[in-house]
Amino acid sequence: MSSSSLAQPNPISAGEQAQAFPVLTAEQIGRIRPFGKVRKAEAGEILFQPGDVSVPFFVFLSGAMEIVQPDLRGEREITTHGAGDFTGEMSMISGRGALVRGRITEPSEVIEVNSENFLALVARDAELNEIFMRAFIVRRLLLISQKKGNVILLGSRHSAKTLRLREFLSRNGHPHTFVDLDTDKGAQELLDRFSVTVEEIPVVICNFQTVLRSPSTHELADCLGLNASISATQVRDLVIVGAGPSGLAAAVYGASEGLDVLVIETEAPGGQAGSSSRIENYLGFPMGVSGLELTGRATTQAQKFGAKMMIARSVEGLNCNQHPYEVVLDDGSKIRARAVVIASGAQYNKPDIANLTKFEGQGVYYGATFIESQLCGKEDVIVVGGGNSAGQAAVFLSQNGGKVHILVRSSQLSDTMSRYLIQRIEENPSIKVHYCTEIVGMEGDTQLEHVTWLDKNSGETSTHAIRHVFIMAGASPRTEWLQGCLALDDKGFILTGRDLDMAVGKPAWPLARVPQMLETSLPGVFAVGDVRAGNVKRVASAVGEGSIAIHLVHRVLAEL
Ligand SMILES: Cc1cc2nc3c(=O)[nH]c(=O)nc-3n(C[C@H](O)[C@H](O)[C@H](O)COP(=O)(O)OP(=O)(O)OC[C@H]3O[C@@H](n4cnc5c(N)ncnc54)[C@H](O)[C@@H]3O)c2cc1C
Repeated sequence: MSSSSLAQPNPISAGEQAQAFPVLTAEQIGRIRPFGKVRKAEAGEILFQPGDVSVPFFVFLSGAMEIVQPDLRGEREITTHGAGDFTGEMSMISGRGALVRGRITEPSEVIEVNSENFLALVARDAELNEIFMRAFIVRRLLLISQKKGNVILLGSRHSAKTLRLREFLSRNGHPHTFVDLDTDKGAQELLDRFSVTVEEIPVVICNFQTVLRSPSTHELADCLGLNASISATQVRDLVIVGAGPSGLAAAVYGASEGLDVLVIETEAPGGQAGSSSRIENYLGFPMGVSGLELTGRATTQAQKFGAKMMIARSVEGLNCNQHPYEVVLDDGSKIRARAVVIASGAQYNKPDIANLTKFEGQGVYYGATFIESQLCGKEDVIVVGGGNSAGQAAVFLSQNGGKVHILVRSSQLSDTMSRYLIQRIEENPSIKVHYCTEIVGMEGDTQLEHVTWLDKNSGETSTHAIRHVFIMAGASPRTEWLQGCLALDDKGFILTGRDLDMAVGKPAWPLARVPQMLETSLPGVFAVGDVRAGNVKRVASAVGEGSIAIHLVHRVLAEL
């Protein structure tokens, strides 16, 4: 019998226990042996530490180990492993830093499989693949739900920087503890312990050792070793810019078809879809799926096939006059690639409202996920926009109990808004749509307190004590970093395939063959998803284009 069990006082159900800690049969263990080496381990030996990257996978033949997590008071027990058990959780797939410490408690015999062989094992053995993936995902979910992470974030609910870090951690599926400085009386003790001043919040205690004062997402990612296992020097078959649905689809298909794939993402995987509370029109999810769940699964899937994911790093340029192409990162470093897929998507335009930027993250939001909805509580909110994303946000936020005011510039909801959303909005007594209406003023000290809107039909302005505004109208492509390199349309979307004929003053197409569908004015550089001119702005089309692009990338690589 296995000795694995989660330590009290955080008991888990028998079902979760079975999924998180299945015991391998002798036959299954026999299939793992050829991928590793059998070795002995002595009591007290530490097999892995928080922050270690490329940690091997261990299967216990005999003996025992404990999995603990160092914290500010010492260590807390997570679980124990015995014969037939195996180590690991999601970081084993992503190659990111381990979250826990594994210490041998009895003389043991283990099979040690290095991370490269482990990925080869799961690629070849469908049954073990399923057992390990399910266990790793459930173990990570348990760490998240039980707040057993190696990160403590101390911040204020009314701070934009705190919101950004919370979103970053949750979008990366990184377990952490949030300490709300506005309500937690004991927090001051922690701050004093690390001599932190009020100006330096939010504060992150990383690995229970390093104190980061008001860090950027880049600094936090570095501290947690989220990009640690990624080589920036090798020439990649394919670099994908952006990890929204289109970039993730390209990563899944590219890596599963044997390409050496690197995805670079400014924030965390998910893109716009990751900021959606519930996507109901994506094929195969009749009950809907949260954007975070869909893209979180896609990220795991891409990593399982071997795609590397560099996060909290922006691409700021493309050196397009040479081959391999050079993708230039925000710190000036360059990554070489034989082919590039641009999947950098679009982002909401900022309406011309005085004080808008002052209240970003402190009353003004560009996404409506669980985190933002928690900030609103039962208060009334405003959603600006008449499209699908605005409708979806309104329906989601109406569940909080407050009134939702949708402000639409024109006299009707957008033609592109799905029928099911229009119906839900019309039937929901908590939602009121204000047509021909726009915000003309925002007031408040640090947090937004009052919003003034103008009814263009009557010419009347009115001021409302509303502290939360969700802006979801009019998106622009994220192509500023490409100027001069590729043919763009007059709005900045990337032209591809036959549409390149429409380009004014386009760079000359240098090859005898015609550009492929989704290929930009640069051979071997493709554009997919919302960033592409003519794209239908939907998750399904983003995913479709990401996968089609890989077929075309193969053709280009064969030309080289
Ligand atoms: C709130 C909301 C709800 C939605 N609901 C639905 C729905 O129900 N159904 C539906 O079909 N569609 C929905 N959509 C639309 C759908 O999410 C988008 O069409 C889809 O996400 C586009 O995917 P993408 O990969 O092309 O781009 P994005 O999702 O925009 O992803 C682009 C990614 O690239 C990254 N990036 C940008 N520039 C750089 C750079 N220079 N370097 C590195 N990374 C970069 C960004 O950070 C981002 O993560 C919704 C959108 C929103 C905002």
